[in-house]
Amino acid sequence: MDVFFKIEYENNLMRVGKIITDHGVIETPNFVPVATLGSIKALDSVSVKNLGIQAIFCNTYHLHLQPTEDVIYYFGGLHKFMNYSGVILTDSGGFQAFSLGQALVDRVGKIANIFPNESKFNYHFKKSRKILQDKLALMDKDGILFKSHLDGKIFKLTPEDSIDIQLKLGSDILLTLDECTSPLASYEYTKESTIRSFYWTKRSYEYFIKNKNNFKDYRRFLYGIVQGGYYYDLRKWSLENVLSLDFDGYAIGGSLGRSKEDLYEILSWLSFPKNKPRHLLGIGTINEIFVAIEHGIDTFDCIIPTRYARTGTVFTKYEDNYKNNFTLDLTAAVYKGKDVKKYDLPIDENCSCYTCKNYSVAYLNHLFNANEISAMTLLTIHNLYFYNELLKNIRLSIINKNYDKFKKDFFA
Ligand SMILES: [Zn+2]
Repeated sequence: MDVFFKIEYENNLMRVGKIITDHGVIETPNFVPVATLGSIKALDSVSVKNLGIQAIFCNTYHLHLQPTEDVIYYFGGLHKFMNYSGVILTDSGGFQAFSLGQALVDRVGKIANIFPNESKFNYHFKKSRKILQDKLALMDKDGILFKSHLDGKIFKLTPEDSIDIQLKLGSDILLTLDECTSPLASYEYTKESTIRSFYWTKRSYEYFIKNKNNFKDYRRFLYGIVQGGYYYDLRKWSLENVLSLDFDGYAIGGSLGRSKEDLYEILSWLSFPKNKPRHLLGIGTINEIFVAIEHGIDTFDCIIPTRYARTGTVFTKYEDNYKNNFTLDLTAAVYKGKDVKKYDLPIDENCSCYTCKNYSVAYLNHLFNANEISAMTLLTIHNLYFYNELLKNIRLSIINKNYDKFKKDFFA
């Protein structure tokens, strides 16, 4: 059988390797940007490819609602439908069990404090709350009962449904159905949910094994998700059970605690078999990326670089305020008015992205002030380029055995 994952270099827990699919290779460790509805917002698929992005992360719940898996299947699957020839991962819909469920009540993200500026970054939750004023997802033994955020239609997503949808979408890497718990969930609730999620994991696995060969055009792979929130014994229980099934890879899901420190602790509890890839779901600040890689994580997905770009925040390490997790607010008042000459510079003079090669901070600031759509495109290009270069340089530093120096210089 063709190899799916191979490790090429190792340094302590860190590894550099390749995830090999029939739609190309993901060099690991790597960041996978989110394309919820079959599009990285503000970019077309060719621009995504040109940025050197090797994989994207699409969303089962959203694509099931629109345009539906049947439409996408008719067009030959997501790759053809969206004209994207790289690797596609799909989540199971389990994250929406949280984001449209308890997250609306607790008003939190996956890590309790991930949205420091609610008015700016929490618009999705806010919008959903305003429309329906209630939870849009309920769990029972059999699956998740959703109320569509689009038209209020009630529908059920079982583990088998989720795999079926993902097979029709044509993703290369599928995920098992799970419930992502709230970071504010009690031990009792998290325990109940972790046990239920494993039951769904097993059903997802069995259904996948039985049905994957009906799709002979290219190989499909399935990752099992480890749950358990910020509870040591539940994480261990979930890990042991998920490892008992022969998945192609593993994902770490669920609540990752109430702070970044909790996330790091959770990662230190989990040890996976070496020969299979590990994906950390929904993580992606710069600090988190370094720590995840140091704990042997191979891939992670997150909305951060793209959502930040659309709200006018860019990543750069060469500005005064880079200490704020390397972000810079391009909409800030400081760029307006008399100091304009000072901003006849790219976002980052050392960045070779299309945006930095062609546009000044003053112009980008103007586009935001004028609500021009191209502002979002240009900033998304920069932020994804920044992440892609960072990951490339981290891989090189692991290969060249100078990771510690690279990290020190990066944070200097
Ligand atoms: Zn740039």
